[in-house]
Amino acid sequence: MCQLNYIHCGKCGKVYSREEFQKLNDQVEVRDKQRIVYKSCSCGYRFWDDRFKYFRLFDKLTIKTPFGILNIEISTVHLEINHGTDEKPKWYETLITCFEKFVEYEKIVRYETELQAQEGHRKIVEKFKNFDFQLKPQITYTLEIDLTDL
Ligand SMILES: [Zn+2]
Repeated sequence: MCQLNYIHCGKCGKVYSREEFQKLNDQVEVRDKQRIVYKSCSCGYRFWDDRFKYFRLFDKLTIKTPFGILNIEISTVHLEINHGTDEKPKWYETLITCFEKFVEYEKIVRYETELQAQEGHRKIVEKFKNFDFQLKPQITYTLEIDLTDL
């Protein structure tokens, strides 16, 4: 559940209510002949534009299994918008992805603090490196229908 009521600065950690955020002055910048409008925190952090600047963890793992090679990407980022609840905000998330012919996996884990995000990311990487996961067979069916008699 995405809560649009609170916005979090990715540099100083200040939390703005939606009303406070709307009151921030629009800053205009021309970059590559494009006019860019953004709001910035009192610490200088530019919302949206700086979202990956102060916190981003990324690992790409290649793991050999008896069924083939898994290429797994683990990306942990700061979310400016609260993806938790008002009581328990989630400002960070890890996205785990693996798309192979024989296995598809996509999972999101969210955290409240940067420290939890760092720790979560590290543990996920460790689990994959230690082969602390299972590859389970999945049964699929194909549909066949005789349409030659129509
Ligand atoms: Zn700030």
